[in-house]
Amino acid sequence: MFLFIEENAEQVATYAANYIKKRINDYNPGPDNYFIIGLPTGGTPIQTYQKLIEFVKAGELSFKYVKSFNMDEYVGLEEDHPQSYHTFMRENLFQHIDIDLANTNLLNGNAPDLTAECRRYEERILAEGGIDLFLGGMGNDGHVAFNEPCSSLASRTRIKTLTSDTIVANARYFDNDVSKVPKMSLTVGVGTVFDAREVLLLVTGESKALALHNCVEKGSSHMWTASVFQHHTNSTIVCDEAATMELKVKTVKYFKDTRNIINENFPSGQ
Ligand code: PGA
Repeated sequence: MFLFIEENAEQVATYAANYIKKRINDYNPGPDNYFIIGLPTGGTPIQTYQKLIEFVKAGELSFKYVKSFNMDEYVGLEEDHPQSYHTFMRENLFQHIDIDLANTNLLNGNAPDLTAECRRYEERILAEGGIDLFLGGMGNDGHVAFNEPCSSLASRTRIKTLTSDTIVANARYFDNDVSKVPKMSLTVGVGTVFDAREVLLLVTGESKALALHNCVEKGSSHMWTASVFQHHTNSTIVCDEAATMELKVKTVKYFKDTRNIINENFPSGQ
């Protein structure tokens, strides 16, 4: 797991958007060779999505041959509810880029058989040959997607009950009224994200500092599910300075020094 430390959230988004653009363009996707991307919702990725939209509008990036799988969706919220993740993705990304909506996949939190819906989602990912790059955020409690503390690190897509921490954190989107926040979600599992060929997590703000400390400096544990990526062969966390507040000076220095050495030796960004 590598940690890129940027000055602020804006720079985290710039890094992430440039990275995604490079990965998709290098892949050179086509009708027989789609790039498969995993996508998050939440406050953190919004700036990254804005920059991706700018790239598409400038003709520097196309999602024509990209298929997407979103991480999660609330159970019981209508698809067109303003706070559904379907709405979020449409408003913050899909309607502004050239992706074919038929190539976007989101879990249906209103499916009559939620377990079957989760099983079908896993089958759809497998049928696409797996996910090339999974972009994610991290909850204050170290969750990835809605894999709350004590989720199995081998978990697959399933129904998940949200912790009170997450319900409180998400109340900001529901008039600050915790009673309006759905209590259950459908979410890809930790194992589902782990199976991606590459994982890129964005972590910004001091509220994530304890989670970042536990995910980077402590052992991997189901108490902080994003810590599992310590075992992934191609995982990167991009964070801002604020999120490093609980890291040891030694850890921060190591990753900054390493980045400088990489930049000196591979100036073209290999
Ligand atoms: P946030 O959520 O980006 O809104 O902070 C991240 C998460 O819960 O995974």
